[in-house]
Amino acid sequence: MNVIASISTAPGIGGIGIVRMSGKDCFNVLDKFFRPKNKQKIEDIKGYSIKYGFIIENNEIVDEVLVSYFKAPKSYTTENMCEINTHGGNLVIRKILDICLKNGATLAEPGEFTKRAFLNGRIDLLQAESVVDIINSKSEREMKTSVKQLEGVLSKKIKDIKQEILDILVNVDVSIDYPEYDVEDVTNNEIFNMLNNVQMKLENLEKSFDSGKIIKEGIKTAIIGKPNAGKSSLLNSILKEDRAIVTEYEGTTRDTIEEFVNINGIPLKLIDTAGIRDAKDEVEKIGIIKSKEIAKDADLIIAIFDSSKELTKEDYEILDIVKNKNVIIVLNKSDLKQVLDEKDNNFVNITENIIKISALNGEGLDKIGSIISKMFNFNEINLDNEVIITNLRHKNLISNAINNVTKAKNAIQDNMPVDIIAIFINDILEDLGKITGETVTDDIINEIFSKFCLGK
Ligand code: GDP
Repeated sequence: MNVIASISTAPGIGGIGIVRMSGKDCFNVLDKFFRPKNKQKIEDIKGYSIKYGFIIENNEIVDEVLVSYFKAPKSYTTENMCEINTHGGNLVIRKILDICLKNGATLAEPGEFTKRAFLNGRIDLLQAESVVDIINSKSEREMKTSVKQLEGVLSKKIKDIKQEILDILVNVDVSIDYPEYDVEDVTNNEIFNMLNNVQMKLENLEKSFDSGKIIKEGIKTAIIGKPNAGKSSLLNSILKEDRAIVTEYEGTTRDTIEEFVNINGIPLKLIDTAGIRDAKDEVEKIGIIKSKEIAKDADLIIAIFDSSKELTKEDYEILDIVKNKNVIIVLNKSDLKQVLDEKDNNFVNITENIIKISALNGEGLDKIGSIISKMFNFNEINLDNEVIITNLRHKNLISNAINNVTKAKNAIQDNMPVDIIAIFINDILEDLGKITGETVTDDIINEIFSKFCLGK
């Protein structure tokens, strides 16, 4: 393949910047403008080695650099690759990229290095997609899951299921090839059982998406309560426990901000925390209407009440908003003289998830994490051992595959001809092949890689 080049470090000023090239002839391109301190013939340079030298243009030194060499097939793309480590200024790094392009490299498209790793067979599509997930990880849990996916844990699982289906097809072929032996009844039974087994495995994977979605997107959580109940204090205590807020970006509507936090390793995407923290007057003004709106959108509502005071009209309105919702009732200010308690029917009638806390001194905060864990079946131990689907594309393909298993099973039960059964079984294989990338169209491949950043 032709030589591609790209800046692989983020734009801006940094200690170093990296320009990367990949392609059979990339060392020849490099040779035209890199003057190493100890020059060696290209053939003699070892893979995984680094050379010190200068980038030269028109007989002038552009920068002092280190170049890492990776020789095919032992590189990210499996092609010859080099990485030029420059001093990390915008200007110098752009200049070096330009020099690469002038000397025969073409500018890489977003994700093209990873796409080459996929097209050259080093990783499958699923692993390639996990690279984006690692880069975009917002929590350690998400990163861990993505790294596991890159290692091929999910790929192996899919491969194993595919092998089972191939075994089923062998049985089907026996029926097709030797109809005179009347083996159909026996094999149909056997095929049916094997399909059941595959279905169970696929359904487990499909189900894992419940956790996978949470890992990737966080539980969309709203904290609601009347003014002075302690919303901001609760939020601040959560943030204090977990200083690693990874992203803060605009939510789906213009006036909401979404923020990621982790409670006991469970990622929460808090809705409208800016509203809670900064626009207090605003919230007071539009109070209940706003709470209703936020609650409508949330996977989880934390409804907070001041337990040192009698319930007010606003509290009752909030209770009304959260009934029939996924809610945790938090009775805040446990450090003060208590007026409300967990056994109060106003709360018990709505949910069993009622806790007392003090946002002020942190008492009871840990209970929030364990309740969420329970509510969302988010069990840490399982997460470490299980293979988890986090990508909607994969989930949809697995659902399709399950559909085709059902069709094949129905066809058997309806005594359909065996070649019809074979068609459905082949469809299952195709669905799974689309996950790992063997049976996927170029359009989809291009779409997947277009989501990558430049230089990856
Ligand atoms: P918000 O309007 O719901 O965001 O409420 P704030 O978090 O701003 O809290 C309102 C007042 O209650 C502040 O003066 C807080 O210091 C106080 N407060 C919040 N939580 C507690 C608590 O657990 N105990 C006590 N004693 N005071 C609290």
